[in-house]
Amino acid sequence: MKWFQEKLYKDYTQMFSVETLLHLGRTMYQDVMIFENAVFGKVLVLDGVVQLTERDNHVYHEMIAHVPLLAHGSARNVLIIGGGDGGTLKEVLKHPIERATLVELDGEVIGLSRRYLPTVSGGAFDDPRTNVLVMDGTQYVAHAKEQFDVIIIDSTDPTGPGESLFTEAFYAACRSRLRSGGVIAVQSGAPFFQPRELQMVCERLSGSFAGVRPYLAPVPTYAGGMLALVTAGETCDALRPPRKVLRERFAPLQGRTRYYTPEVHLAAFTLAPSFEPPSLGEDPMPAGYLKTGS
Ligand code: SAM
Repeated sequence: MKWFQEKLYKDYTQMFSVETLLHLGRTMYQDVMIFENAVFGKVLVLDGVVQLTERDNHVYHEMIAHVPLLAHGSARNVLIIGGGDGGTLKEVLKHPIERATLVELDGEVIGLSRRYLPTVSGGAFDDPRTNVLVMDGTQYVAHAKEQFDVIIIDSTDPTGPGESLFTEAFYAACRSRLRSGGVIAVQSGAPFFQPRELQMVCERLSGSFAGVRPYLAPVPTYAGGMLALVTAGETCDALRPPRKVLRERFAPLQGRTRYYTPEVHLAAFTLAPSFEPPSLGEDPMPAGYLKTGS
Protein backbone atom coordinates (compact mmCIF):
# COMPACT_ATOMS: atom_id res chain seq x y z
CA MET A 1 0.00 0.00 0.00
CA LYS A 2 1.37 3.40 -1.00
CA TRP A 3 0.76 6.51 1.16
CA PHE A 4 0.65 10.28 0.49
CA GLN A 5 1.98 12.37 3.38
CA GLU A 6 0.99 16.04 3.40
CA LYS A 7 3.88 18.46 3.89
CA LEU A 8 2.27 21.63 5.26
CA TYR A 9 3.49 21.73 8.87
CA LYS A 10 6.87 20.73 10.22
CA ASP A 11 5.52 19.14 13.43
CA TYR A 12 2.24 17.66 12.19
CA THR A 13 1.19 15.69 9.14
CA GLN A 14 -1.70 13.73 7.74
CA MET A 15 -1.46 10.67 5.48
CA PHE A 16 -3.81 9.23 2.86
CA SER A 17 -3.60 5.76 1.38
CA VAL A 18 -3.11 5.90 -2.38
CA GLU A 19 -5.34 3.30 -3.98
CA THR A 20 -4.70 4.58 -7.52
CA LEU A 21 -2.31 7.30 -8.65
CA LEU A 22 -4.11 9.20 -11.44
CA HIS A 23 -1.61 12.00 -12.15
CA LEU A 24 1.80 13.12 -10.90
CA GLY A 25 3.69 15.97 -12.52
CA ARG A 26 4.82 19.60 -12.41
CA THR A 27 3.19 22.51 -14.22
CA MET A 28 4.91 25.86 -14.87
CA TYR A 29 3.96 26.82 -11.32
CA GLN A 30 3.51 23.86 -8.98
CA ASP A 31 3.67 20.11 -8.39
CA VAL A 32 0.33 18.39 -9.03
CA MET A 33 -0.75 15.00 -7.71
CA ILE A 34 -4.21 13.45 -8.13
CA PHE A 35 -4.97 10.09 -6.55
CA GLU A 36 -7.83 7.89 -5.32
CA ASN A 37 -8.22 7.35 -1.58
CA ALA A 38 -10.55 4.74 -0.10
CA VAL A 39 -12.26 7.20 2.28
CA PHE A 40 -12.20 10.56 0.45
CA GLY A 41 -12.35 9.50 -3.19
CA LYS A 42 -10.17 11.49 -5.58
CA VAL A 43 -7.76 13.94 -3.95
CA LEU A 44 -6.10 17.00 -5.56
CA VAL A 45 -2.72 17.98 -4.10
CA LEU A 46 -0.69 21.06 -5.10
CA ASP A 47 2.90 21.45 -3.89
CA GLY A 48 2.32 18.73 -1.30
CA VAL A 49 -0.81 20.39 0.18
CA VAL A 50 -4.32 18.88 -0.03
CA GLN A 51 -6.56 21.26 -2.02
CA LEU A 52 -9.74 19.21 -2.14
CA THR A 53 -11.25 15.77 -2.05
CA GLU A 54 -14.36 14.44 -3.76
CA ARG A 55 -15.86 13.57 -0.38
CA ASP A 56 -15.70 16.91 1.49
CA ASN A 57 -15.02 19.70 -1.04
CA HIS A 58 -18.69 20.68 -1.12
CA VAL A 59 -18.45 22.07 2.44
CA TYR A 60 -15.64 24.44 1.46
CA HIS A 61 -17.05 25.44 -1.93
CA GLU A 62 -20.56 26.05 -0.58
CA MET A 63 -19.27 28.15 2.31
CA ILE A 64 -16.83 30.27 0.28
CA ALA A 65 -19.53 30.96 -2.35
CA HIS A 66 -22.97 31.16 -0.67
CA VAL A 67 -21.95 33.19 2.40
CA PRO A 68 -20.80 36.28 0.41
CA LEU A 69 -23.42 35.84 -2.32
CA LEU A 70 -26.36 35.57 0.10
CA ALA A 71 -24.92 38.33 2.25
CA HIS A 72 -24.93 40.52 -0.88
CA GLY A 73 -28.38 39.37 -1.97
CA SER A 74 -28.47 40.59 -5.57
CA ALA A 75 -25.10 39.87 -7.17
CA ARG A 76 -24.97 40.02 -10.95
CA ASN A 77 -21.24 39.99 -11.67
CA VAL A 78 -18.86 37.70 -9.70
CA LEU A 79 -15.06 37.37 -9.79
CA ILE A 80 -13.25 34.22 -8.60
CA ILE A 81 -9.46 34.38 -8.21
CA GLY A 82 -7.88 30.90 -8.21
CA GLY A 83 -10.41 28.10 -7.97
CA GLY A 84 -9.00 26.21 -10.97
CA ASP A 85 -10.84 23.04 -9.90
CA GLY A 86 -14.17 24.71 -10.70
CA GLY A 87 -15.85 23.83 -7.39
CA THR A 88 -16.45 27.43 -6.31
CA LEU A 89 -17.55 28.33 -9.87
CA LYS A 90 -20.17 25.56 -9.77
CA GLU A 91 -21.66 26.95 -6.54
CA VAL A 92 -21.59 30.57 -7.78
CA LEU A 93 -23.51 29.59 -10.92
CA LYS A 94 -26.38 28.25 -8.79
CA HIS A 95 -27.26 31.92 -8.18
CA PRO A 96 -29.17 34.06 -10.73
CA ILE A 97 -26.02 35.95 -11.75
CA GLU A 98 -25.20 37.29 -15.21
CA ARG A 99 -21.49 36.50 -15.35
CA ALA A 100 -18.77 34.69 -13.43
CA THR A 101 -15.15 35.48 -14.27
CA LEU A 102 -12.60 32.92 -13.05
CA VAL A 103 -8.95 34.08 -13.07
CA GLU A 104 -6.69 31.06 -12.53
CA LEU A 105 -2.89 31.32 -12.79
CA ASP A 106 -2.33 27.72 -13.86
CA GLY A 107 -4.27 26.51 -16.87
CA GLU A 108 -3.02 22.97 -16.30
CA VAL A 109 -4.91 22.82 -12.99
CA ILE A 110 -8.10 23.56 -14.92
CA GLY A 111 -7.32 20.91 -17.54
CA LEU A 112 -6.38 18.24 -15.01
CA SER A 113 -9.40 19.03 -12.80
CA ARG A 114 -11.77 18.80 -15.76
CA ARG A 115 -10.24 15.47 -16.76
CA TYR A 116 -9.83 13.72 -13.39
CA LEU A 117 -12.29 15.58 -11.11
CA PRO A 118 -15.28 16.39 -13.37
CA THR A 119 -17.82 16.10 -10.53
CA VAL A 120 -16.14 19.02 -8.70
CA SER A 121 -16.85 21.55 -11.47
CA GLY A 122 -19.98 19.71 -12.65
CA GLY A 123 -19.97 21.38 -16.08
CA ALA A 124 -19.45 24.90 -14.69
CA PHE A 125 -16.65 25.67 -17.13
CA ASP A 126 -19.11 25.18 -20.02
CA ASP A 127 -21.82 27.44 -18.61
CA PRO A 128 -22.48 30.35 -21.02
CA ARG A 129 -22.12 32.79 -18.08
CA THR A 130 -18.57 31.58 -17.36
CA ASN A 131 -15.53 33.59 -18.46
CA VAL A 132 -12.17 31.87 -17.73
CA LEU A 133 -8.89 33.83 -17.82
CA VAL A 134 -5.56 32.07 -17.30
CA MET A 135 -3.36 34.69 -15.64
CA ASP A 136 -2.15 36.03 -12.30
CA GLY A 137 -5.02 37.29 -10.20
CA THR A 138 -3.01 40.23 -8.89
CA GLN A 139 -2.32 41.39 -12.45
CA TYR A 140 -5.96 41.00 -13.41
CA VAL A 141 -7.28 42.99 -10.44
CA ALA A 142 -4.62 45.69 -10.92
CA HIS A 143 -5.51 46.34 -14.57
CA ALA A 144 -9.12 45.22 -15.07
CA LYS A 145 -11.75 47.91 -15.49
CA GLU A 146 -14.74 45.67 -14.75
CA GLN A 147 -16.74 46.17 -11.52
CA PHE A 148 -18.04 43.22 -9.50
CA ASP A 149 -20.64 42.60 -6.84
CA VAL A 150 -18.80 39.69 -5.17
CA ILE A 151 -15.11 38.69 -5.30
CA ILE A 152 -13.98 35.27 -4.04
CA ILE A 153 -10.30 34.50 -3.43
CA ASP A 154 -10.14 30.71 -3.71
CA SER A 155 -6.36 30.47 -3.67
CA THR A 156 -3.62 28.25 -2.36
CA ASP A 157 -1.93 29.34 0.88
CA PRO A 158 0.22 32.49 1.16
CA THR A 159 3.36 30.76 -0.12
CA GLY A 160 4.53 30.45 -3.72
CA PRO A 161 2.14 31.78 -6.37
CA GLY A 162 -0.62 32.40 -3.82
CA GLU A 163 1.45 34.76 -1.69
CA SER A 164 0.61 37.86 -3.74
CA LEU A 165 -3.10 37.28 -3.08
CA PHE A 166 -2.73 37.98 0.64
CA THR A 167 -1.32 41.52 0.58
CA GLU A 168 -2.99 44.72 1.75
CA ALA A 169 -2.36 46.22 -1.71
CA PHE A 170 -4.18 43.32 -3.37
CA TYR A 171 -7.18 43.70 -1.05
CA ALA A 172 -7.23 47.46 -1.76
CA ALA A 173 -7.21 46.70 -5.49
CA CYS A 174 -10.08 44.22 -4.98
CA ARG A 175 -12.00 46.92 -3.08
CA SER A 176 -11.65 49.23 -6.09
CA ARG A 177 -13.12 46.49 -8.31
CA LEU A 178 -16.23 46.15 -6.14
CA ARG A 179 -19.47 48.07 -6.75
CA SER A 180 -21.26 49.76 -3.84
CA GLY A 181 -22.50 47.05 -1.45
CA GLY A 182 -19.85 44.65 -2.76
CA VAL A 183 -18.62 41.69 -0.69
CA ILE A 184 -15.33 39.74 -0.75
CA ALA A 185 -14.56 36.28 0.70
CA VAL A 186 -11.05 34.90 1.23
CA GLN A 187 -9.76 31.41 2.02
CA SER A 188 -7.68 31.96 5.17
CA GLY A 189 -6.13 28.65 6.21
CA ALA A 190 -6.52 26.34 9.20
CA PRO A 191 -7.07 28.56 12.27
CA PHE A 192 -5.74 26.00 14.73
CA PHE A 193 -2.41 25.69 12.93
CA GLN A 194 -2.27 29.10 11.21
CA PRO A 195 -3.79 31.67 13.62
CA ARG A 196 -1.33 34.29 12.35
CA GLU A 197 -2.63 33.78 8.76
CA LEU A 198 -6.18 34.38 9.91
CA GLN A 199 -5.22 37.45 11.94
CA MET A 200 -3.12 38.76 9.03
CA VAL A 201 -6.00 38.40 6.56
CA CYS A 202 -8.42 40.15 8.94
CA GLU A 203 -6.02 43.02 9.60
CA ARG A 204 -5.10 43.50 5.95
CA LEU A 205 -8.73 43.43 4.82
CA SER A 206 -9.55 45.97 7.55
CA GLY A 207 -7.33 48.42 5.65
CA SER A 208 -9.91 48.50 2.84
CA PHE A 209 -13.21 47.29 4.30
CA ALA A 210 -15.21 48.63 7.25
CA GLY A 211 -16.82 45.26 7.97
CA VAL A 212 -14.53 42.22 8.32
CA ARG A 213 -15.72 38.89 9.76
CA PRO A 214 -14.01 35.51 9.96
CA TYR A 215 -16.17 32.41 9.74
CA LEU A 216 -15.50 28.69 9.90
CA ALA A 217 -16.14 25.64 7.70
CA PRO A 218 -15.55 22.09 8.97
CA VAL A 219 -13.48 20.37 6.26
CA PRO A 220 -12.08 17.05 7.54
CA THR A 221 -9.20 16.95 5.05
CA TYR A 222 -7.81 20.39 5.90
CA ALA A 223 -5.35 19.90 8.76
CA GLY A 224 -7.17 20.31 12.06
CA GLY A 225 -10.53 19.70 10.36
CA MET A 226 -11.56 23.36 10.37
CA LEU A 227 -10.96 25.98 7.69
CA ALA A 228 -11.15 29.72 8.32
CA LEU A 229 -12.66 32.01 5.73
CA VAL A 230 -12.96 35.78 6.00
CA THR A 231 -15.64 37.89 4.39
CA ALA A 232 -15.60 41.68 4.21
CA GLY A 233 -17.90 44.43 3.03
CA GLU A 234 -19.29 47.84 3.95
CA THR A 235 -20.58 46.78 7.40
CA CYS A 236 -20.26 43.72 9.64
CA ASP A 237 -24.03 43.39 9.87
CA ALA A 238 -24.34 43.15 6.09
CA LEU A 239 -22.19 40.00 6.13
CA ARG A 240 -24.55 38.14 8.46
CA PRO A 241 -28.11 39.22 7.47
CA PRO A 242 -31.09 38.30 9.69
CA ARG A 243 -32.31 34.71 9.38
CA LYS A 244 -35.55 35.80 7.69
CA VAL A 245 -33.65 37.69 4.97
CA LEU A 246 -31.26 34.78 4.40
CA ARG A 247 -34.15 32.32 4.10
CA GLU A 248 -35.82 34.48 1.45
CA ARG A 249 -32.59 34.83 -0.51
CA PHE A 250 -31.80 31.11 -0.14
CA ALA A 251 -35.21 29.92 -1.38
CA PRO A 252 -34.13 29.52 -5.07
CA LEU A 253 -31.20 27.33 -3.92
CA GLN A 254 -33.30 25.17 -1.57
CA GLY A 255 -32.32 21.52 -2.02
CA ARG A 256 -29.28 22.38 -4.15
CA THR A 257 -26.74 22.56 -1.30
CA ARG A 258 -25.52 19.73 0.91
CA TYR A 259 -23.97 21.75 3.74
CA TYR A 260 -24.93 25.44 3.48
CA THR A 261 -28.23 26.59 5.00
CA PRO A 262 -29.16 30.03 6.37
CA GLU A 263 -28.77 28.61 9.89
CA VAL A 264 -25.28 27.32 9.04
CA HIS A 265 -24.44 30.77 7.62
CA LEU A 266 -25.36 32.44 10.90
CA ALA A 267 -23.69 29.79 13.07
CA ALA A 268 -20.44 29.85 11.08
CA PHE A 269 -19.70 33.38 12.33
CA THR A 270 -19.93 32.31 15.95
CA LEU A 271 -16.28 31.56 16.52
CA ALA A 272 -15.03 29.86 19.64
CA PRO A 273 -12.91 32.44 21.50
CA SER A 274 -9.80 30.42 20.68
CA PHE A 275 -10.43 31.04 16.97
CA GLU A 276 -11.33 34.75 17.23
CA PRO A 277 -8.37 36.82 15.96
CA PRO A 278 -7.30 39.20 18.79
CA SER A 279 -7.52 42.18 16.42
CA LEU A 280 -11.24 41.61 16.06
CA GLY A 281 -12.36 39.96 19.27
CA GLU A 282 -14.16 42.10 21.89
CA ASP A 283 -11.94 40.58 24.58
CA PRO A 284 -8.36 40.46 23.39
CA MET A 285 -7.03 36.96 23.63
CA PRO A 286 -4.97 36.12 26.71
CA ALA A 287 -1.32 37.08 26.41
CA GLY A 288 0.66 34.57 24.43
CA TYR A 289 -2.35 33.51 22.32
CA LEU A 290 -0.47 33.78 19.06
CA LYS A 291 2.79 32.52 20.46
CA THR A 292 1.44 29.00 20.14
CA GLY A 293 0.43 29.56 16.54
CA SER A 294 2.55 28.68 13.48
N1 SAM B 1 -9.73 24.89 -2.16
C1 SAM B 1 -8.30 25.11 -2.12
C2 SAM B 1 -7.88 25.60 -0.76
O1 SAM B 1 -8.72 26.04 0.00
O2 SAM B 1 -6.69 25.50 -0.47
C3 SAM B 1 -7.90 26.04 -3.22
C4 SAM B 1 -8.25 25.45 -4.52
S1 SAM B 1 -7.63 26.05 -6.02
C5 SAM B 1 -6.93 24.57 -6.60
C6 SAM B 1 -6.25 27.08 -5.64
C7 SAM B 1 -5.77 27.71 -6.94
O3 SAM B 1 -5.18 28.98 -6.71
C8 SAM B 1 -4.69 26.87 -7.67
O4 SAM B 1 -5.24 26.31 -8.83
C9 SAM B 1 -3.60 27.88 -7.99
O5 SAM B 1 -3.02 27.70 -9.27
C10 SAM B 1 -4.37 29.19 -7.87
N2 SAM B 1 -3.51 30.37 -7.67
C11 SAM B 1 -2.45 30.50 -6.84
N3 SAM B 1 -1.89 31.72 -6.96
C12 SAM B 1 -2.64 32.40 -7.88
C13 SAM B 1 -2.57 33.71 -8.45
N4 SAM B 1 -1.62 34.58 -8.06
N5 SAM B 1 -3.50 34.07 -9.37
C14 SAM B 1 -4.47 33.20 -9.75
N6 SAM B 1 -4.59 31.93 -9.27
C15 SAM B 1 -3.67 31.55 -8.34
